[in-house]
Amino acid sequence: MDPVHAVKGMNDLFPADVARWQQIEAMFRQVVGLAGYGEIRVPIVEHTPLYVRSVGEGTDIVDKEMYSFAFHDEAMTIRPEGTAGVVRAFVEHKMYSSEPLARYAYLGPMFRGERPARGRYRQFHQAGCEAFGDGGPGIDAEMIAMLVDYLKAVGAEGITVAINSIGDRGAKARYRDALVAYLEPHKSKLSSDSQRRLTTNPLRILDSKNPDDQALVQDAPSVFDVLDDADRAHFEQLEAMLRAMHVPFECEPRLVRGLDYYTRTLFEVRCSNAELGAQTAIAGGGRYDHLVEELGGPDTPAIGFAIGLERLLIATRAPQDAKPFRVFIAPLGARAIEYALTLAQSLRAAGIATIADTRGGSMKSMLRRADSLQSKVAIVLGDRELDARVAQVKDLANHSQSEVALDDLVIKVTELAKVGQGE
Ligand code: AMP
Repeated sequence: MDPVHAVKGMNDLFPADVARWQQIEAMFRQVVGLAGYGEIRVPIVEHTPLYVRSVGEGTDIVDKEMYSFAFHDEAMTIRPEGTAGVVRAFVEHKMYSSEPLARYAYLGPMFRGERPARGRYRQFHQAGCEAFGDGGPGIDAEMIAMLVDYLKAVGAEGITVAINSIGDRGAKARYRDALVAYLEPHKSKLSSDSQRRLTTNPLRILDSKNPDDQALVQDAPSVFDVLDDADRAHFEQLEAMLRAMHVPFECEPRLVRGLDYYTRTLFEVRCSNAELGAQTAIAGGGRYDHLVEELGGPDTPAIGFAIGLERLLIATRAPQDAKPFRVFIAPLGARAIEYALTLAQSLRAAGIATIADTRGGSMKSMLRRADSLQSKVAIVLGDRELDARVAQVKDLANHSQSEVALDDLVIKVTELAKVGQGE
């Protein structure tokens, strides 16, 4: 039989990795929680039309990357991104009537059938925030500053923030027309993908990685030529607020980002860490002022962002954790194994991480395992010790050993743990 293997682009995480994940997830909940974002959990599967209507036809996600399937007669998709599901929940549960300024945070896996590479996977994880009901630039600035604070707090270095405005619906449509008018005469020089995008989603040509496309868009019209006064004022206020909050940023008129629902503010955070290779974007977001209404809710402006957690982990080094204090019990013989089980229970009840070796192996192999688990203390006991109601306690770090009465073991080991933890 063929050996089993994971689906391409989907990764396994073992406890050593998960510990670091939990750190950055806990930090995320803490940082955004302080700004009023409560965690929301929505299903991983939604009806396919939700993504087609929000992310939009002509986007890479909807056209090529969704994990979609038919369940009975219903078209389902495993979520490629988090915003659509959160907006669906906000609309479906009429959250706008109880909390018009709702703020939600989410964490979880997303699925896109992209070509796997370092930092680009088919199952990847995002942490994101969505803020509903505030159409002004203040929330944009606050959100970008919060995102930067979080990324710095978890140790991301060399981060840059790019911002842009794609304008409201009117400017967005004008910009699309201006781009098409500029690119149409050069159509034959565009990559085949971008030739197709010229009719389906011309804005996407701006973030094509193809060198011929990139050369052409260098001289493409700027979105700032088509913004109306309100779009422009929103953007200028955002710039002023970011400066006031000391958040460095660059204005990047060709930043578009690949999802249809965006209007006005767009932003992307990149990290210069070499480990990331080409996948430098660690977070991105923007306004989606019409999506709530388009999905059946009242006119409600909104803004959100998502951080790619795999990329964030690549870009940050784990702090060197002090090794946890762990006790290893090495029992010799059946009686000692039985005693070891209850002793382990008592130690764990006292909050001490304890591994009891229940295999009944040789002392040598048990102590080797204690070492490889980086245990701080080994408790050795056999029939002789049980008869004398004692155990040998080996301090593995200091290579010392003492005999301790069984009745005093938990207290003695708790004291050692305190010293071990530097208390
Ligand atoms: P998006 O949802 O496309 O706006 O992406 C937001 C962030 O999610 C990006 O900046 C990346 O950090 C991350 N991301 C998007 N696609 C992937 C992927 N296929 N693999 C890993 N991370 C991704």
